[in-house]
Order: sequence, then C-alpha cells, then structure tokens
Amino acid sequence: MANFDDRYPLDKWRDADHSVMKEFSLAGKKGFVTGAAGGIGRSAAAAWAEAGADVALVDLPAKLEQLESLAAEMSGKYGVNVVALGCDVSDPNSVAELKTALVDRLGTVDIAFLNAGICLMGDSIDIPFDKWQKTLDINLSGAFMTGQIAHQIMREHGHGGSLIFTSSTAGHTVLNMGGSPAPNMSYSVTKAGVTRYTQYLAAALAPYGIRSNAITPGYIWSGIFGDSVTEEGHDAMLQMVPERRFARNDELQGLLVFLASDASSYVTGTDTPIDGGLLVY
Ligand code: NAD
Repeated sequence: MANFDDRYPLDKWRDADHSVMKEFSLAGKKGFVTGAAGGIGRSAAAAWAEAGADVALVDLPAKLEQLESLAAEMSGKYGVNVVALGCDVSDPNSVAELKTALVDRLGTVDIAFLNAGICLMGDSIDIPFDKWQKTLDINLSGAFMTGQIAHQIMREHGHGGSLIFTSSTAGHTVLNMGGSPAPNMSYSVTKAGVTRYTQYLAAALAPYGIRSNAITPGYIWSGIFGDSVTEEGHDAMLQMVPERRFARNDELQGLLVFLASDASSYVTGTDTPIDGGLLVY
C-alpha cells in the first residue's frame, strides 16, 4: 500500500506559518465585480476590499458617476485601490474594452465576481421576444463574456484565480413568486445556464489553477426588486422561506470572501445556496 502522507500532510496545523484565518485574506489579489452599483455587487466589492484586494467596480456606463463615488468611499475606508469602470456586459465590444481597462488599471485579475443581472416584469409564457433576448444577453451572454475575459487574463498572465458567478434559486426550481413580483421565466432559464456554465469552466480551467463556483441567492433585499414588492407579496414570497425573511446584502459577504480566497482552494464547480432554506422545499 502506498503512503501519501508526504503529499497530503495530516497535521499542517502544526506548521509554524500555518494559519487558517490567514487563508481568508485577499491581500495582494486583484479583482473585479460586475453589477457593482447594485446591492449584492457593491456589498461584495466592499467585502473584497476589506479583505485586502484591489477591486474594479464594473457597471453600466450610465452609472459611472455612482461607481466613482463608491470607489472613493471604499478606497478611503479600506486603504486599497478601488477603481470604477463602465461596461455593458451584453455588448462584446464593451467587454473587450473592459479587458484592456482591467489590465491597465489593476495589472491583472486574480478574482472575478460575474454578477450583473436583470429580471424584467412580465417575464412569463407570452413574453415578447425582445424581452426574452435582453434577459439572455445580459444574464447569460454577459456572464459568458465577462467570465471569459477574466480567465483569459489569468491564463495570459500565467497564474490561477477564482471565478464566482451569480445564479439564483430561480435557476434550480420554478418559483411560485406568490404574485409579487411577476413571474421570471427567461430569468430562470438564464440562471440555470449560468450554473451549468460555472460547472463547465470548473472542469475546463482546473489545469490552469482556476476555480469556478456559483452562488445561488434566494430573496436578497436589493435593487432588483425595485418597488415591485407589496407588503402582501413580501409575506406571500416568504411562505416558501424557512427563515421567513429576506437576506441583507452583507449576509453574502462571508461566502464571497471564502470563494475568492485560498481558504476555498479545493472548492470548484459548486453552486452554494444562500437562501434562508428556500430550496429545501
Ligand atoms: P441590483 O439590481 O441591485 O443590481 C444589478 C446590477 O446589474 C445593477 O447595478 C445594474 O445596473 C447592473 N446591470 C444590469 N444590466 C447590466 C449590463 N448590461 N451591464 C452591466 N451591468 C448591468 O440587483 P442585485 O440583487 O444586486 O442583483 C445582482 C445579481 O444577483 C443579479 O445577477 C441577480 O439576478 C442576482 N440575484 C439576485 C437575487 C435577489 O434576491 N436580489 C436573487 C437571486 C439572484
């Protein structure tokens, strides 16, 4: 029988320089977050900045002013380099420009949170084609293109990294939204695609030291709901959630730091629900 103890030390914790808490640090890493003007995105970017990473905040060019103000606030609070970059993730030219800007402004990319997304009203069986297409362009093609430039930069620069995609409970099950907000057919289809894309990349990119994981938020109170949720709808939606509440954006921060950091070095191809138990039903 072979003994693999040399390859897989059983008591690494005994090493003088070993510290599991240090593995959660993002010091020295560089990354970008799409949808960074939105609730989940800006909270994620703040978490990465607090953990020591330099971060590019990426959102629609129309939101550049808001991004610049967030970048100044985060740089000031956490003492790292936070920059603002406008990009429409559904536009191939805009994403190509983003790739150049990321290398110019950060030097490289070690971690990326591909998170921009929309959920349009009236998204059900009679949805007009243009709404269907827009949802696919942003949620699915946007994740594809921004994920692609991230792993291309990592491979071109000869180092590994961590990609994190935002799926949704709606990508795993057909949610009965309790009437508020309206249904989400094309949204669900795109999020199921995001999960499978995440898994494909995990298999294809492992030889390069690049990990690929997704998060699956349940109901997180953020911009995506706009003012579409009534008090009655809120209560109806939460009938399906054992925790009986929405999450706050900051409740996703721990998972997002973990997945970006070396503490998750053997975690790839996963899609972790953070949903107050919604998917148990
Ligand atoms: P949000 O509306 O606050 O943020 C989404 C951001 O994406 C916005 O800032 C928006 O400007 C940006 N965006 C939209 N189209 C874009 C484009 N073409 N190019 C670049 N940026 C674009 O909503 P959020 O809840 O923070 O959503 C973030 C992600 O989380 C989305 O992918 C969403 O589908 C997903 N999600 C949210 C929930 C929830 O309950 N909030 C649940 C599951 C999944």
